[in-house]
This record gives sequence, structure tokens and C-alpha cells, in this order.
Amino acid sequence: MHELKRITEELRLVEGSARELQLTSNERKGITEAVVHYGENFIEELKTRDAFKKHSGQAISEAWQIDFPTSIETVLNLIKDEMDSTGLIPSSEGHLGYIPGSGIYPAALGDYIAAVNNHYAGVHFAGPAAVELENYLIQWMGEILDFSPQAVGNLTSGGSIANLIAIVTARDRSNVMEENPRDFCIYMSKQSHHSLDKAIRIAGLNQCRIRIIEVDEHYRLDVESLRELIEVDISHGKVPFLCIANVGTTDTGAIDPVEDIADICTRHNIWLHLDAAYGGFFKMVEEDVTVPMDKLHLADSLTVDPHKGLFLPYGTGACIFKDVSALSKSFHYQAGYMQDAVEPETISPADVSPELTKHFRGMRMWLPLKLLGLDRFKASLKEKLWLCRYFYHKIQEMGFEVGPYPDLSVMIYRYTDTEENLNKFNKRLVEKIHADGAVFISSTTINDIFWLRLAVLNFRTHKETIDRCLAMIRRCLEKSS
Ligand SMILES: *Cc1c(COP(=O)(O)O)cnc(C)c1O
Repeated sequence: MHELKRITEELRLVEGSARELQLTSNERKGITEAVVHYGENFIEELKTRDAFKKHSGQAISEAWQIDFPTSIETVLNLIKDEMDSTGLIPSSEGHLGYIPGSGIYPAALGDYIAAVNNHYAGVHFAGPAAVELENYLIQWMGEILDFSPQAVGNLTSGGSIANLIAIVTARDRSNVMEENPRDFCIYMSKQSHHSLDKAIRIAGLNQCRIRIIEVDEHYRLDVESLRELIEVDISHGKVPFLCIANVGTTDTGAIDPVEDIADICTRHNIWLHLDAAYGGFFKMVEEDVTVPMDKLHLADSLTVDPHKGLFLPYGTGACIFKDVSALSKSFHYQAGYMQDAVEPETISPADVSPELTKHFRGMRMWLPLKLLGLDRFKASLKEKLWLCRYFYHKIQEMGFEVGPYPDLSVMIYRYTDTEENLNKFNKRLVEKIHADGAVFISSTTINDIFWLRLAVLNFRTHKETIDRCLAMIRRCLEKSS
């Protein structure tokens, strides 16, 4: 009796302050309006601002420390002054480095809706509509990529986790960990993304024999080397179990010869994973791509990144599969406290990924597509292919050497009309370009050759942006010579 009295008294004392977390309607409206105003300004100012401002040292001040309540105006000014003014502006039309993630606006509202309604997208029992929407998006991607009409899989935070899920699934399908991992072999191109090396290590597969396959002059995986290495490994009693090919490499956008690779994989019962994180969605405009993209269905699993090819803000990747049993074998668990949530007939994200509770990523992906329709996305992707080709010609007119004709919207180039050491000269040129900042481009090193790199994948980037980029390079070239 005594204790109950104490409990009631404690509750009476604390409830008032605790309720202050529940903002009133007017409080909500006030901060929402301010944030929307900030967003509008940010987007409008993108047109006139530089894409990059190099920053060294500490970017944020002590004003970011969390202590007493602060007004929304103070907070937004802090973001504007200290966060938005330094580093790379990924949403800028002038972000032509790395692989841009442009941040299409309705996706921000999708995040807003998902965070307000906070539906539980991990388990079907709790969030049936949210889970079904995500499963639908996976299946929709399976269709538009002509991978499988019954695709299963997961919306991840990005391509890295998607690759990890695929590698773990391939591992368990071949029971690699139950046997001696040293007897098993993985094959992937020299031009593979480093997230694959990372995933292999996280999955405990770095003891496997990892065969890095040579590429041809287009930086595409060399099928003959793959065939030979697999045969050598088999003749030594090893077990090839996983081959990873690229649909759009990060360095040069190269598309590996999927059909020939798939042929070898089928013959030797090897899981074929396609890393299409960058290139996958170009499948929607394949008539404008120079190499065929019609063989994605020959793979067992596929990574795509909606935060690249569908222009979403960062935070949405996807891995898609044909065989749900292989996926469940790696990721399905049952716990006592989850007993109410068992619905064997439905697939939940929690059954096919490392996550349980997760962000409802489907909403930010579905809303822009549903609102705007697919045709505008296709037009934008098509435009990016032609913009890269435009640059490919224009940069040669300026005396630059180029890499192979781009398969997609990424390409490499370097200045060779100088007596100076070429790597040194081009490195200095990139430093000048970064100091200029009007447009951001990146660089890469392939076989000890330093290249400048162009990656066009922002929906805000158009021909005038490429012209601005060319003018900037000309300006910086004059300063370097
Ligand atoms: C971007 C990229 C990745 C990694 O994806 P994240 O979304 O950055 O985690 C993997 N593979 C390729 C080919 C990529 O372009």
C-alpha cells in the first residue's frame, strides 16, 4: 500500500514535464514551417552555389552541444552556416564526382511521412501494409530490371549492405562455414567495388581463395581468365561457389559480359551475384546503352542502389533474389518474444536481412515514383548517358586523353599534352579543380595511372552543367600549365 502511494506521487510529479515531449499542434506547425522554409531556400540556392568547398579541421562549433532547449531558427541557422557551407554538396547539379546521390524532393516527404506514422516495416504482423509495399517495390525492381517477376529481397541502407546480404546468402547456400573455407573459391573482377572485399571479410570468407580476375581494355571482366582460373581451381580439388560481376563499375562504368559469365557459373553450379549498384537502373533505358543489358535474369542475386539510379537521397539500396529459401537460411530467426508475429506465408524484411526494427525505406522510394511516374526518371537516366558522351567528345577537343567510350555515365580522362610527369600534372590539376569548387569531379588510379573521373548521375545535371564543368577544367588547366 505504502509503495503504491509513492509510485502515484512520483508519477504526479514527473508527468507534466514528460508531456512536454508531445508538442502541441501549434508548436508542430511552427517548426514544420521553419524547416520547409529552410528546405526551399536550400534547393533554390543550389542553382548558384559551388558544388564543393574544401574544409580542413573541425567543421562544427561548440554551438552544436546539446544542453538547454533552442529555438528552431537558431538550429536552422547553425545547419545553414556550419553544415551546408562546407564539403561536398551531393544534391548540387555540379556534383560530378564519385557516384552522386541527388536527393529528389518527394523522397524527403516520404521520409517525413514514414517518420510521422512510424509504421513498423520489419515484420508483416506489425506493419502489414508497410511490409507489403516494400515487398512490392522489390518485386517491381525484379520486373523492370527483367531479373525475375517473383523477386524477393530487401531494401537496405545502400549497396554495401546489399552486397553483404548476397555474399552471406551465397556462403550459406554452399555451407562454406560448415566445411573448410580454404577449400572454397570466390571470383570477381579487378574493377570490383571495395564494398565487396569488405563484405567478404565481414562474412568471414577472407580465408577462401579469392581470385581477382583481369579486365580487358574496356575494364570489363575477362571471361577467358575466369574460365581458366575456375578450371585450375577445380582440378586442384577446390570448390568455386561465388562469382561477382559488375553492371557498371565505379571507376569507368564498365558492364561485364554477363551472359558469358553466367554460362560458366551455370556449368559449375556457382552463385552469380551482379553488383549493379550504380548501373542497374540504366536497364530502363537500355536502348540507349551501348552494350546489352538483357541478361540480368541469369544471375542469382542483384544489388541496385535507388539512391544512385533513382536519384533518391542517400540511404536506400536493394538486393534482390530469386530464391527465398536461400535468403531465409541465412537470415530467418525465431525468438520467444516474437511469437505473436509468426506468419509463415509472408516474407518480412526481418526474415531476409540482418535488421529487425528498421527505417520504413519503402515510403521514400515509392512516393517519388508514384507521384511523378516512371517516364521522367527514364528521361533523366537517358540524358545522363548522353551528357557523359558529350563530355567524352568535348574534353578531347581540349587536348585530353580519354579512357574507353563510356558504357554508361562514368568515364576517365587525363591531360597528356605536357612535358611534366603525367600523374603529377593531373594530380595537381585535380587539386586546382577542388580549390575552384564550382563543379566537383573526382579522380582514380588504375594500374598506376592517375585519371580524372566524371560521373553524371544527378537529376539536376543538364548540358549547361557539363559546359560549366568544361569551362572550369579549362580555367584550372591554364593555372596548372
Ligand atoms: C556505390 C557502389 C557500391 C556501394 O554502395 P553504397 O550505397 O555506397 O553502400 C557498391 N558497388 C558499386 C558498383 C557502387 O557503385
